[in-house]
Amino acid sequence: SERTLVLVKPDGVRRGLVGEVIGRIERKGFTLTALDLRVMDRETIERHYAEHEGKPFYAPLVEFMTSAPSVAMIVEGERVIESFRALAGVTDPIKALPGTIRGDFATITRENIVHGSDSVDSAEREIKNFFPEHA
Ligand code: ATP
Repeated sequence: SERTLVLVKPDGVRRGLVGEVIGRIERKGFTLTALDLRVMDRETIERHYAEHEGKPFYAPLVEFMTSAPSVAMIVEGERVIESFRALAGVTDPIKALPGTIRGDFATITRENIVHGSDSVDSAEREIKNFFPEHA
């Protein structure tokens, strides 16, 4: 099977949606193998979003992501990378379908509740970034 890095971003934690997100992951049939609630440090978030450096939304995104606690998780299961992105819905919560996490709970692109890795390579890189001990 596969593993992915999932974040419940500060908006999701603040709104009390950690249980909702974990419940959907578990009911789908995936397994949590690591979980950590913490205020993410700037270096970790800058590495995580390095591909967006220079874009207009980058600075406010880094501010937002370091402003309050997030939950980072490693989730394992069959094709979990693709499957979790389907559970999350597309980046823009207005376009995300009802029934997805973003479609059901979010309205603002920056504050779209969750992150999930988008490929095997990025999953391994992101797991190393948030959970060096599980690399
Ligand atoms: P994530 O990487 O968080 O799962 P994603 O892969 O769906 O999201 P990306 O295009 O990689 O989307 O963007 C990363 C994050 O940056 C988004 O989840 C969102 O929080 C923020 N973001 C992306 N585009 C915008 C935008 N136009 N305005 C504000 N924030 C944005």
